[in-house]
Amino acid sequence: MSIKTIDAEFVECRVRRHRWDPIPDDGGHGRKYKESRSVRRLTMRCERCHCVRHEAWNKITGDILFVAYDYPEGYSLSGEEVKPWDLRREYLLRLDRLDGKIKLSR
Ligand SMILES: [Zn+2]
Repeated sequence: MSIKTIDAEFVECRVRRHRWDPIPDDGGHGRKYKESRSVRRLTMRCERCHCVRHEAWNKITGDILFVAYDYPEGYSLSGEEVKPWDLRREYLLRLDRLDGKIKLSR
């Protein structure tokens, strides 16, 4: 995927951050951090791009012990270095195009 061909929701999540929604722990990553008296597992899915985030927190200290992501197909921008400002410009370009369509359709 390139910055020009990546899906709009992936650009939005990369620029505006994910929209996390808690889901049940699916027994995925980080099995060495099992739910216990001191460990709490948290799993969430992005409502927009469906990326899944797995976490384990220490209930006593509040420390984050572990974080891992399962990115959806097409999310990664492989083979090129993409800077945050490039993504923000691409996001604005797409927003402007969207504004144009909305204005034209009225
Ligand atoms: Zn997302």
